[in-house]
Formats: sequence, C-alpha cells, structure tokens
Amino acid sequence: MQYRRLGRTGLQLSALSFGAWVTFGRQVGRSEAREMMALAWDNGVNFFDNAETYNHGEAERLMGDVLADLRFPRDSYCVSSKVYFGAAEKPRPTQRGLSRKHVIEGCHQALERLRVGHLDLYLCHRPDPETPVEETVAAMDTLVRQGKILYWGTSEWPATAIHEAHRAAQAMHMYAPVVEQPQYNLLHRERVEQEYAPLYDSYGMGTTIWSPLASGLLSGKYSQGVPQGSRLTQPGYEWLRDMVLGEQGERAEKVKQLPALAAELGATTAQLAIAWCLTNPHVSTVILGASRKDQLEQNLRALDLLPKFDQALKERIEQLLA
Ligand code: NDP
Repeated sequence: MQYRRLGRTGLQLSALSFGAWVTFGRQVGRSEAREMMALAWDNGVNFFDNAETYNHGEAERLMGDVLADLRFPRDSYCVSSKVYFGAAEKPRPTQRGLSRKHVIEGCHQALERLRVGHLDLYLCHRPDPETPVEETVAAMDTLVRQGKILYWGTSEWPATAIHEAHRAAQAMHMYAPVVEQPQYNLLHRERVEQEYAPLYDSYGMGTTIWSPLASGLLSGKYSQGVPQGSRLTQPGYEWLRDMVLGEQGERAEKVKQLPALAAELGATTAQLAIAWCLTNPHVSTVILGASRKDQLEQNLRALDLLPKFDQALKERIEQLLA
C-alpha cells in the first residue's frame, strides 16, 4: 500500500480506501462485509468511508459491527461519516441539513452506529442553503474541540462555498475544513481538476474521491448490457442507472476502447481506471466500492499498475476519451 497525506494535514491515508455506499446493508451482509473489510485491512487499507444516509444508517451499523468483530486497533484506521441527508427514511426538518442541531446530533448517532468514540473525518455531504455557513463551521469546531471528530470537510460543495467556510473559520478563529469528497473518474473530472484547483494551494485541502469506476461503468461490465444483480439493477436506483449510462449510452460508448488498452498493460479495465485516478497528486485517497470480495481483490491490485503510467500512456487515454 501507498500512504498519502490528507492535503496539508499530518494524517496519512492509504491511497486506496473502502466505502459502503449502496452495498453495505443492501447487497452485502455481515459476513461478506467482514471478509471485505478484513481483506482491505490485510492489504494496508486504513480508511473506511460511510455516511448517515447510506441505507438509512444500516451501512454504518453494519460497519460498526464488523469493526467490533475484527478488533482492529482504533489508532490504526480511520473512519468517516457524512451529515446532511439524514438517516431517517423521511427525515423531519431537524433530522437533516447542516444546522448546529443536526450536525451535532448526527455525529452522536454516527458514533453510536459505528461503535467508535470519535470519527476521524466528518463531512458535510452537500451544502445547505438553509443554514448560514458560520453556524455549520461553529458546530464542526465544537465537535473537534470536544474530541468527537478529528478533521472535518465537505462533499460536493462548490468551490465558492468552500472559500466561504474558510473565510468564516478564519474570522472566528475556528477549525476550517481540510478535505473535500468529490466524484472523480475518467468521465467526471472538471470539478477536481479545474474548479477546485485554487483550493489545494490556498487551503492545503486534500480529497477523498468517490466513484472511481463511475458506479462500475469503468470496469467495462456494462458494454454488453446491464448484468442482473449489478448496482444499476438495484430497486430505487433507477435514477443512477439513467445517470451512469447517460443519454443514448454516450458514456458507455466512450469506455468501449478501454479494455483493449488495459489488456495491453496486463491489467483489467477497472484497474486502469483506478490507477489513473491515483496519478492526480491532489487525490489523497481513492475510495473503492465493491459488492464482492473478488472485485475488491482485483481493485486493490490497481496500485501495481501505477509505475506504468507515463505521459505517453496518459495521452493515449485522453485520446480514447476525447
Ligand atoms: P465505484 O465507482 O468503484 O463503484 C463500485 C461498484 O462498481 C461496486 O459496488 C460494484 O457494483 C462495481 N464494481 C467494483 N469493482 C468492480 C470490478 N472490478 N468489476 C466489475 N464491477 C465492479 O465506487 P462507488 O460508487 O461505490 O464509490 C466508492 C465510495 O465512495 C462509496 O462506497 C462511498 O463510500 C463513497 N461515495 C461518496 C459519495 C459522496 O457523495 N460523498 C457518493 C458516492 C460514493 P456491482 O457489483 O453492484 O455492480
């Protein structure tokens, strides 16, 4: 495993980490979750990503059970939660958003579900136009000072909103966000590469990037249609299927040439896509998702491909996806 600093903080995260969205508590039960987390751990993964909203709290509950089963020393791994959407199926107004009330109560609930004394990362899952940013910054600062969270950050916030949070934290002498969690993959790049460019130097922010395979599309598996049981067939995720496959399958069309290039390198398409994300130095960790152990085994080996990434290879990929 390779370890990278989370931006300018002293926190060293494994370059590949493991997340629970869609899978934990839906496609994956306790024994599979245990097997995958143990596999990740054995391969040096030290960051597990979660959120209050994933399967309405079930994903955190399951991860908490597995962390307790596996007894990893608490100081040897990091775990996150994300606040905003709420855990309830139909959250009432105080059960969601970034008000002081929900940020603090959401943290207490995540600690309980994950069965840990503190969260290493606590992220605002989306911006909340209904809450002044000063209130959210102050709530996060309180949690840091209480030792309930160690670092806080944002997820999918526009750069302007992140600037606002920094300005507020500076004015109030409070802890500022140190991490953003954006989507980043071969098909979705603009925010990380352009919009956020000023944030890395100005504030030393790191990124924990999500959907490196665009929900599986970049494994190449959807080129022959949508396999039964895969993420895009999950009930309730029809919106994701439409988004991932794109208008008239334009996105699926774009990735059709990746498998041949991956084969040339002796790798799978998924490994190629994951390794490509790691070539961006502003990526602190790539959060992997997997519904099966063999997927995770394969994806963890993406690191082996990194030494083959030179400028010529990157340019070939650019041409394929142009
Ligand atoms: P990916 O884009 O890598 O998608 C993972 C899914 O792709 C798997 O569950 C599996 O789905 C399929 N897959 C994975 N590996 C392979 C393989 N080798 N071959 C074929 N299919 C494969 O990542 P996620 O979208 O899961 O994102 C990773 C994590 O990021 C999440 O778990 C979550 O923690 C975080 N996240 C954060 C968000 C945010 O807003 N902050 C939003 C989304 C995710 P299947 O087998 O079901 O087809």
